Parts: sequence; structure tokens; C-alpha cells
Amino acid sequence: MYCSKCGEKLDENSKFCTKCGTPVTTAETKANNVVESFEKDPQLQDHWIKRVIAYIIDSIIINIATGILLAVALFPAFIANPFGYINVTSFPFASGIAAVIYFVVAETVYGTSIGKTFMMLKVVTVSGEKVTFEKAVIRNISKVYPVLLLLDVVGGVFATSDMRQKYSDQIANTKVV
Ligand SMILES: [Zn+2]
Repeated sequence: MYCSKCGEKLDENSKFCTKCGTPVTTAETKANNVVESFEKDPQLQDHWIKRVIAYIIDSIIINIATGILLAVALFPAFIANPFGYINVTSFPFASGIAAVIYFVVAETVYGTSIGKTFMMLKVVTVSGEKVTFEKAVIRNISKVYPVLLLLDVVGGVFATSDMRQKYSDQIANTKVV
């Protein structure tokens, strides 16, 4: 175990760094801090509720669009079996790729997405500028698979100082406002 501030090696049970006095943050205290922050900060709750609703709106649009695109691309199979033409294993993959493309294009061109527009949210760099293509790719790549996105969100809330940043937002230096 090492001090998060000065890097000094610490004993397993120490509560403070012996060199610089910084309190030792364990996973448990960190988790308590996160819960406490959410309880005490209605704006933080509000922020994440808005983002979840925006994501649900965008996901519905993406899934419908993916279904239509696949129906067109696999037209003979669609005619043969209108409800079974979409393979249950290929659809999540196709819609995951579609989601990454959709969010990267929307955020690079408009700085937002349809769902975020509904919730009056936009994506900017930490200094408040429009996101570039590269930053949009970094912050949206986890949307290829829901479990990755969840880890990105949870990781961000726990690992970054700003609990409004996903982990990938910290890497890309971006935020949703
Ligand atoms: Zn220290």
C-alpha cells in the first residue's frame, strides 16, 4: 500500500501517511464517500438521472434504427421470417457498433445527442470547448457493450475527483454539462 499523495510505502492498517500526513483512503471509505456525496448532493443525483434518461432515449432510437437497417440489409431473411430475422447474438453487436458511431458523430458535429438534447445536456472539454473527434471516440467507445459502459460509469464515479465524469471522460478530459 502506498500514499496516494507522496507515494510513501505504508503499513496495511495505517490511517494516515507517516511522511506527509495524508489520510489513507481505502475502498470502503471511498465507497462511503461516494454514497454520502450522492445523498448530500441533489444536483449530483439530478445530473445522473438526466444522463440515464438521455441514454435510454438514445438507446431506443439506436435500437429501432439498427432493426430497420438490418431488415433492409437482410431483406430476404426478413421477408421469410419477420420476427426471427434478427439473430439474438448479432443484434446487440450491431447495435453496439451503431451506438458508438451515432454518439461519436453526434457529439463531434453537434456536441450533444438527441437524448442529451431532450435532457438539456451537452458534452464539452473540461475547459468548456467543443469535443474533437478523438475525444468523442475515447469517451464513447465503452458504449459498444452495456457492461463496459456500466464499468466506465462506476469506475469514473469512484476513481475521478469529479463524480460527473465517467472514467473515459477523465481520460478524454471531457465532461457532460
Ligand atoms: Zn504521503
